[in-house]
Amino acid sequence: SYGLLFAFGQLRDFFRRIFDWWSQSNLQDCFNRPISSPPDAWFDVVERISNDNNKTLKRTTRVNRCLNLGSYNYLGFAAADEYCTPRVIECLKKFSASTCSTRIDGGTTTLHAELEECVANFVGKPAAIVFGMGYVTNSAILPVLMGKGSLIISDSLNHNSIVNGARGSGATIRVFQHNTPSHLDKVLREQIADGQPRTHRPWKKIMVVVEGIYSMEGELCKLPEIISVCKKYKAYVYLDEAHSIGAVGKTGRGVCELLGVDTADVDIMMGTFTKSFGSCGGYITGSKELIQYLKYTCPAHLYATSISPPAAQQIISSIKVVLGEDGSSRGAQKLARIRENSNFFRSELQKMGFEVLGDNDSPVMPIMLYNPAKIPAFSRECLKRSVAVVTVAFPATPLLLARARICISAAHSREDLVKALEVLSTVGDMVGIKYFPAEPKKQ
Ligand code: PMP
Repeated sequence: SYGLLFAFGQLRDFFRRIFDWWSQSNLQDCFNRPISSPPDAWFDVVERISNDNNKTLKRTTRVNRCLNLGSYNYLGFAAADEYCTPRVIECLKKFSASTCSTRIDGGTTTLHAELEECVANFVGKPAAIVFGMGYVTNSAILPVLMGKGSLIISDSLNHNSIVNGARGSGATIRVFQHNTPSHLDKVLREQIADGQPRTHRPWKKIMVVVEGIYSMEGELCKLPEIISVCKKYKAYVYLDEAHSIGAVGKTGRGVCELLGVDTADVDIMMGTFTKSFGSCGGYITGSKELIQYLKYTCPAHLYATSISPPAAQQIISSIKVVLGEDGSSRGAQKLARIRENSNFFRSELQKMGFEVLGDNDSPVMPIMLYNPAKIPAFSRECLKRSVAVVTVAFPATPLLLARARICISAAHSREDLVKALEVLSTVGDMVGIKYFPAEPKKQ
């Protein structure tokens, strides 16, 4: 069986090299396109930059104003906002762009303390710690929490930052079938005898790691069922809410609110500020003791420069808008809008015959292309019609499960969505990705 595993590994590497070579020579223009405006509902995609043969150092750019179906701008805070932007500008003047210090050595401004209190209150946990990058939040925290002799049980489609954090921890890793509580139960049963107390098990700690909304699947976590399995085996629950915090739930508080889960049942709630809040960075929330422990042990807290003050101000201000603490009802309107937009767009795509992954209420909508050779045609034809889409391929997905990943925003108007649907329908016919019969249009 080792021989077989070796051969499989070699074959995978071979296909990976072929795919890398093919994508570098054929797909370059579909990725890494420069953008020259904020990632609002519409944005400027740079088609060409020329620099005048280097004679005058004059750079000219040709841009295509596109409908943006790719950014994670769920609540529309990526663009200038009447409440957030003036405060961010004031903050920049007061604190400047960087603290130029680590959190423990002068990098904790009054704003950082306010941010952590604000995030803990919003998420519904006793305390929070924030980091300058969402990716680092997962990859740096898991190695602090888990180590040799511990067991991490990870959803098979967890984000790369979780995978790297789990690997870096040195803990034993087991993977359960994507979003399948019964398989999680089976994996846990294999690892520990049923009903043993925490102190009599072969593992120091067991942690189950899941996401609120899966970023490549658009699917909501089956959190209530996962939690009941974890309770049965006394395993900790770690929830990554990068795509769900701010985006779902009546008041934007994520999947716990949406699915009626008590936040006390989730031991560690992680999230990022890069999606719904139009900023950067990530957070961990949990018990006061846990957060205090992380503040003295986590290398990303001790040795990295703290999150930029204007970025922190953007998060505080956008959370205030979501909670209606700016004195307006814009937050509630944005939340209603993203739900309405997401459900409308998903159902229209399905009626057209596309294969769309994910659940209702999720603003993440992968459209299956399957064959990676369809990526360049789909991406270029959409762009020609001024619609920018994100396409996802191997190794972010299995080789033959390429997809376009649509992210819907509260900033999209109904006209924007109708235009997007028209373009996607035309291009979908050209590329041949309507795998189901279309529903007849109502007269
Ligand atoms: N977790 C998940 C589930 C993600 O999808 C991402 C990135 N989109 C991250 C963590 C990393 O967050 P960031 O982009 O803010 O660094």
